[in-house]
Amino acid sequence: CGIVGYVGKKQAVPFLLSGLKRLEYRGYDSAGIAVVSGAEVFQRKTKGKIHDLVQLIGTRPLPEATVGIAHTRWATHGAPNDINAHPHASCDKKFMVVHNGIIENYLKLKEALLRQGHRFVSQTDTEVLAHLIEKYYRGNLEKAVIRALQDVEGSFALGVVSSLEPGKVVCARQDSPLIAADGPEGLFIASDVPAILEHCRRVVYLKDKQVAVLCGRTLTVLGSNGKKIPVKFDKITMDA
Ligand code: GLU
Repeated sequence: CGIVGYVGKKQAVPFLLSGLKRLEYRGYDSAGIAVVSGAEVFQRKTKGKIHDLVQLIGTRPLPEATVGIAHTRWATHGAPNDINAHPHASCDKKFMVVHNGIIENYLKLKEALLRQGHRFVSQTDTEVLAHLIEKYYRGNLEKAVIRALQDVEGSFALGVVSSLEPGKVVCARQDSPLIAADGPEGLFIASDVPAILEHCRRVVYLKDKQVAVLCGRTLTVLGSNGKKIPVKFDKITMDA
């Protein structure tokens, strides 16, 4: 039930794992991570605790990467197991999605995608998002996300990475919390402030239906129509 994402110059994995740790209070049954390295996305995910994910990464190390997303899952659709853990991938594995919330119309979407030749591997509602983004991708990740979300009913906070745009994290929300933040070590997204408090003091509380793009040092916020919205940072004064 938590999301963390990072784009910067440092190694993403330690930021992502420590951010997930700080969201543990929200409860969860599985955890996972995806990082972009070179022009490839790598993922590790498992049922159980963040400690289990750390052990998995210990036995199957991830390559060096400065861009990534991570997730703790509280299952709503599909049993808590390794396959249903997030991130979820498109057929071509070029798009990876983490999601908190519920896609209410996922069955209808899944049936249509199956008819169009998409193959599903999990029982989650979330997996439709990865396939929709793949279906609508025409060379721009945030545009594909915005188009995909037009088909979706329900609540979501989501983070997306793609091997086709290796420097980027795209996120969006509707009726589930999500913040974007800017700090000296890079740009972050998170479900809640504690995940990023150590690293950032400048935070954007994304509004419903907004989409944020993290790329290089630049944080861009878009409306559901794809138009840019001026970014308004709030200053956090709490102690880490
Ligand atoms: N509905 C999604 C699932 O069951 C996300 C659950 C969550 O918010 O962690 O996988």
